[in-house]
Amino acid sequence: MICCMKHAVAASWLHKLMLSQSSRPTPLAAQAAGSEGAAHGETFNGLAAEPRARDGGPQPGEGARTLIKGGFLYAGDDANTVIENSWVLVVGDRIAAIGSAQQPAPECDHVIDAAGKLVLPGLINPHWHESFVAPNFERPDDAGLEPTPYSNGGDIEALGSMFAFISTVGQKLTHAEGVAIARWSMWTQLRSGTTALGDVGSANTADAMAQAALDLGMRIRVSRWGSDIMIPNGAKEFRRIADTQAQADDWAALMETWNDHSSGLIGGMPSVMGAFGSSDEQLIALRDIADRYQAPYATHLAPLRNETAAVQAVFGRTPVGRFDALGMLTDRLLAVHTAYASEEEYRRLLETGVNICHSPAHYGMLGEATVSETGQIGRFIKDGGHVSCSTDGDISYIGGMPEAMRAAHLGHNEAQNCNTACPPTLALRMATLNGARALGWRDRIGSIEVGKQADLVVIGIDDWRYRLGNHPLRTFLVAGGSRDVEAVMVAGRIVVRDGRSALFDEAELLTDYRLAVASARARIQRK
Ligand SMILES: [Zn+2]
Repeated sequence: MICCMKHAVAASWLHKLMLSQSSRPTPLAAQAAGSEGAAHGETFNGLAAEPRARDGGPQPGEGARTLIKGGFLYAGDDANTVIENSWVLVVGDRIAAIGSAQQPAPECDHVIDAAGKLVLPGLINPHWHESFVAPNFERPDDAGLEPTPYSNGGDIEALGSMFAFISTVGQKLTHAEGVAIARWSMWTQLRSGTTALGDVGSANTADAMAQAALDLGMRIRVSRWGSDIMIPNGAKEFRRIADTQAQADDWAALMETWNDHSSGLIGGMPSVMGAFGSSDEQLIALRDIADRYQAPYATHLAPLRNETAAVQAVFGRTPVGRFDALGMLTDRLLAVHTAYASEEEYRRLLETGVNICHSPAHYGMLGEATVSETGQIGRFIKDGGHVSCSTDGDISYIGGMPEAMRAAHLGHNEAQNCNTACPPTLALRMATLNGARALGWRDRIGSIEVGKQADLVVIGIDDWRYRLGNHPLRTFLVAGGSRDVEAVMVAGRIVVRDGRSALFDEAELLTDYRLAVASARARIQRK
């Protein structure tokens, strides 16, 4: 391939950033890595200002009454309300009334015709990492494919080293680069129907991601990637790799700036990478700041078969045991990929109401067995645990919440050997209301209920795939996907219409992203 010459130069830092398959640079990545770029300054095309509004059609005005009429509604509420021919009245930023065709529709200013469409709550992706600054070395023919550090139980030393590097990337970006990268990265999620993201640590900054969310009109809880130690394989002591206080200061700053932001769209969620990446001092700092703000906080917890022994050898406690000893198993904890807890720990996680989140569509890409090896997440679901699903993050678009729901529906039913383990409405709940709980926003979003924020997704179902089925949500999960999302509303504002942004030009956003990564990669490479 023409890109090979750049590979040796790029590999030193780029390799560390790769979250998935390793191989060689694509032509685009090589060009970007080798380019000094025209964009060393703080402005890119359209970036200094608000994203340029495109002709996206009318927006409901302040306090406007909009009727979404004729859709097949899955409300995603506790009653599991399903209305085949529905109407939903949105007034301003809230849902004001819900009904069926048998009931008279209320008066309104605008009608959105949803006949032949599914109407779902806005999808909530509580565990995500913005990582689009990293080049993609994947080869299309799978040549040179090797097991990732996540495979075969996990290489704890290699992962610790990689995560330590990721925790430093955000501060190497200019704010303008960070915003441009985050806008494109987050647009791929919004386009897929995700209306609220939970950042569990990114190769970007909280400020840039919050700004991108405001520009795109979506919700996010921002974070910073906390990781201050690593554990070499076979070690009895950890190695300190970052300044604990500096990372705690970042949490304090982002909470001060963004938690309960006046826009109503942004909050904070301090997070650490996991028990094998944090000292006790760092976990205590995480606990204390989350307590101070009564905010959710997040970690990957018991995610890999090999992690327990590595952590126990250094700390004398297991990963879950460390969090429990510090009083950190609470209903504000978002615990990700939790498949390797002991029986006693499993009971503690259930009784303390910890939010369990998993990313079933991502494991197969990395060679993890998180759903099937222990079946523990399926058990949490069966035992009434608070389980949400998510996409996780990667260095390119790897699917949205529709694909995560599909993998939850099919994967748990298969792993549990029973079709009632995760029916479609439960998969939807994992992608909506349970995610809202994990983000501490259950009273605000996560279902289509009167009084909640008007966050909705409209999906086309008027085609050959749906002709013989009775269950359009199932057909969407097994035969549909992110591309079928037609419209997205957040807080009563239409942000995606006809599969395109209603607020900005997608091509311009991509151009800005490319300029920003060229500039950022060139600088990082020189260091
Ligand atoms: Zn993750």
